[in-house]
Amino acid sequence: MSVRAGIVVTGTEVLTGRVADRNGPWLADRLLELGVELAHITICGDRPRDIESQLRFLAAEGVDLIVTSGGLGPTADDLTVETVARFCGRDVVLDADLEARIAEIIRSMMGRYTGPDAPDFETVRAANRKQAMIPAGATVLDPVGTAPGLVVPGTPTVVVLPGPPRELQPMWHKAMATAVAAEAIAGRTQYEQQTLRMFGLPESGLADTLRHAEKVVPDFSRLEITTCLRRGELEIVTRYEPDAAGAYARLLAVLRERHADAIFSEDGSLIDDLVARLLAGRQIATAESCTAGLLAGRLADPPGASAYLAGGVVSYSNEAKVDLLGVDAALIAEYGAVSEPVAEAMAAGALRRFCADTAVAITGIAGPGGGTPDKPVGTVCFCVALGDGRMITRTIALPGDRADVRERSTTVAMHLLYRALSAD
Ligand code: ATP
Ligand code: MG
Repeated sequence: MSVRAGIVVTGTEVLTGRVADRNGPWLADRLLELGVELAHITICGDRPRDIESQLRFLAAEGVDLIVTSGGLGPTADDLTVETVARFCGRDVVLDADLEARIAEIIRSMMGRYTGPDAPDFETVRAANRKQAMIPAGATVLDPVGTAPGLVVPGTPTVVVLPGPPRELQPMWHKAMATAVAAEAIAGRTQYEQQTLRMFGLPESGLADTLRHAEKVVPDFSRLEITTCLRRGELEIVTRYEPDAAGAYARLLAVLRERHADAIFSEDGSLIDDLVARLLAGRQIATAESCTAGLLAGRLADPPGASAYLAGGVVSYSNEAKVDLLGVDAALIAEYGAVSEPVAEAMAAGALRRFCADTAVAITGIAGPGGGTPDKPVGTVCFCVALGDGRMITRTIALPGDRADVRERSTTVAMHLLYRALSAD
């Protein structure tokens, strides 16, 4: 029997879109990992009536677990605990231990404020007493900020978490470690999950291969396959019960047979991590025009990146390409700023400028309005240059608006870099 859950995201700021919901998707991922089937994510404002209707709706759907996010603060508009208590048919009682713990947290936080405007401890403490009021019989999750979370046993069991993602995330793990939560999800099915990534294969090509696999892979129907196109890469996530591992192995064999060139990751690793590994011990520099430094930003992201990223030049004007990267003005005049010879000269310039052994240059037309008939918007030239003189140069036509072209360009650059470095 499978275990089902629902998520209630509360907060008028989330309902109105002023704050984008980060808790629903994050919790959805965690439930998936646990093998709990997510039935619904609902979003409502801070009104108790609306929160209560959503709790009732999910309970009527027969979910075993409800997770709420938000509305645990000390202010009067934070009413989730009261509402959940009413829904679960439990009284709200003061937890004296919890009140003392919250007072301690406030005391240490207030130590940071001094001067005439410093808040008065007793006032703050009174406001926070509200946060020590809990439904009778609930398990308390210690505050990460000042708001404690709760696990309220019942059918369904309700896990009550604070809104700020930095508080909700650690508290989720505490919640699922409690006996009450473990009991609520005891009947779940454990799944294996595998993530495979491809680049350079259109979605239709993958769809065709999956239709073929359906015919040749025994037990194909036991694999739950989700494919999605992200940043120009194809992500294929497959879930299955452990005894269907053989079916996944057969599927993998079919994918390898047909798309060996496109598959770059079979264990879920991201291209950024793979490139970071290959860059260990090297020094890379970037020269970017249409991507405005985004590639350098991406290279600087993984842990340890400062060890290999020497720096980057963002050069939009021809003068900047000449002055900062030593590109020959005659080359720009002859071929245009968006051309393979200029991309190569930019990469060579970045190598010299930063005394690097690896460089990537991107020059393109992210639009709108910058295109010409022979170089339409989305035309982007790339060059990866290595210290030993080897170069990979490409021109690619990318679809989409400016943001798409920029993002796709950095992905293409990462893959060219990966190819150049793995050929070593
Ligand atoms: P607090 O004590 O901070 O008030 P709380 O549990 O009452 O905690 P909320 O008042 O619902 O939380 O939200 C506080 C802030 O946390 C929001 O203004 C928002 O910035 C952030 N936040 C809340 N819910 C979400 C969400 N679903 N996704 C992203 N951020 C959120
Ligand atoms: Mg609040």
